Amino acid sequence: MPDCIFCKIIKGEIPCTKVYEDAAVFGFLDIKPVNPGHTLVIPKKHYENIHETPDELLGKMAIVAKRIADAILKLGAKGINIGMNNGAVAGQSVFHAHIHVMPRYGKDSFSLWVGKEYDGSEREEVAGKIKNAL
Ligand code: AMP
Ligand code: ZN
Repeated sequence: MPDCIFCKIIKGEIPCTKVYEDAAVFGFLDIKPVNPGHTLVIPKKHYENIHETPDELLGKMAIVAKRIADAILKLGAKGINIGMNNGAVAGQSVFHAHIHVMPRYGKDSFSLWVGKEYDGSEREEVAGKIKNAL
């Protein structure tokens, strides 16, 4: 994908700080980390998001994310958030699929979502709809 910044990183046209590479998957440090070591795990081939990424490749990305998370824990992180933003409304800003591996130390600016309550029968209804859509 010619205009994709992550494709350019894989091709070496834009610099990055690489931490992992194999035939299908690439890992490099996020330029604006939640904490030092925040890594992005991406497929070498361009897929826009989780929905487009083939299952087998997504599995490889998840395994690499876990390995990197294990390494970061060994280096002293107290926990790891692993996340993937899919779609602009979900916070995706680079439209080349990527898994965030984010080291946590207890004191940082990262904040998790705030949950809300279900109304009446909404919970059962939405669960039924999801099950039917699977
Ligand atoms: P997202 O909002 O989930 O699409 O995340 C995109 C991430 O890519 C952000 O955390 C950015 O800081 C990161 N990012 C954007 N450009 C670069 C770059 N050239 N090198 C490393 N990370 C980048
Ligand atoms: Zn791309």
